[in-house]
Amino acid sequence: MKKHNYSAGPCILPQEVFEKSAQAILNFNGMDLSILEISHRSKEFVAVMEEARALVLELLGLQDKGYQALFLHGGASLEFLMVPYNLMKENGKAAYLDTGTWASGAIKEAKHFGETVLVASSKSDNYNHIPKQYVVPTDADYFHCTSNNTIFGTQMKEFPEIGIPLVCDMSSDIFSRKLDFSKFDLIYAGAQKNMGPAGATLVVVKESILGKTGRHIPAMLDYQQHIAKESMYNTPPVFPIYASLLTLQWLKKMGGIEAIEKLNDAKAQLLYDEIDRNPLFKGTAAIEDRSKMNATFVLNNEVHTETFDKLWKAAGISGLTGHRSVGGYRASMYNALPIESVQVLVDVMKELEHKI
Ligand SMILES: *Cc1c(COP(=O)(O)O)cnc(C)c1O
Repeated sequence: MKKHNYSAGPCILPQEVFEKSAQAILNFNGMDLSILEISHRSKEFVAVMEEARALVLELLGLQDKGYQALFLHGGASLEFLMVPYNLMKENGKAAYLDTGTWASGAIKEAKHFGETVLVASSKSDNYNHIPKQYVVPTDADYFHCTSNNTIFGTQMKEFPEIGIPLVCDMSSDIFSRKLDFSKFDLIYAGAQKNMGPAGATLVVVKESILGKTGRHIPAMLDYQQHIAKESMYNTPPVFPIYASLLTLQWLKKMGGIEAIEKLNDAKAQLLYDEIDRNPLFKGTAAIEDRSKMNATFVLNNEVHTETFDKLWKAAGISGLTGHRSVGGYRASMYNALPIESVQVLVDVMKELEHKI
């Protein structure tokens, strides 16, 4: 039987995506060829790329608003440097909000390109909350934030109104909740958290913010080059893009972001209610900033660790161990995780309570 997969990434995808992409490896589109052996310039694959790019904009409500969707290589980590390369002017500066390991990774890369202004950081509290009431300098070239902090289990509920380009790493909560995506000028996300297999990176960018730095940008790192080549500057990661398309189609069929958000809310409520009710557990993130994708929690008394670990493993749960920088447990409840899996975890938490 399939495990209840709480892995933080790569992570669970819809079962039908696994089945359809497995089929495409054997025989893609009735071509009697594998998707792995056809040209990325074939009309069949070009259609995949076009539909995937269009569906991203459709699901985010960004059609005909001056945005382009790109599927690139390199993961979200490469975007940490492509963003400043493409947006920070020579001798310019950029503003960053430090909410976790990934945010600080982005800051580290930006420092190679110019001045970075740290508007706020929750590092001294081991990133257990999202700083608020910070001021974003209006003379910065852009402001960068991380919508969901995968490791620490916090999520931004509000985004500042600023007069400069707003850039967001949405790797671990893209397509999970309704937002006014037109507030953002550049969104990026590694595929492997909510969209597809590792290997593709989604970038959604408002074209009008590009081409203003005065820098020479190497072609592979230049968003404008990728846009001009319709996301096929070189051979794209064809299989991750195809599987991402299948996930996007699944999401659209489910009713889009609005419908999945309701499910995600229900899953998060079910689990957090138990974390708060059960005297054996406590959450590690500030309540108002809790992530609906990654719930981090610990046992109040570590002496129960072995018993709890045995129980959840026996219940068919996988991937619940917390990140080493937080410890305890992390339940990643991405779009494809069914609420039934959350119920199994909640039942195990109750069972532990009754056992001891
Ligand atoms: C996983 C993750 C990353 C890193 O993604 P890669 O694709 O492995 O580079 C960056 N940011 C966030 C928020 C993440 O969750």
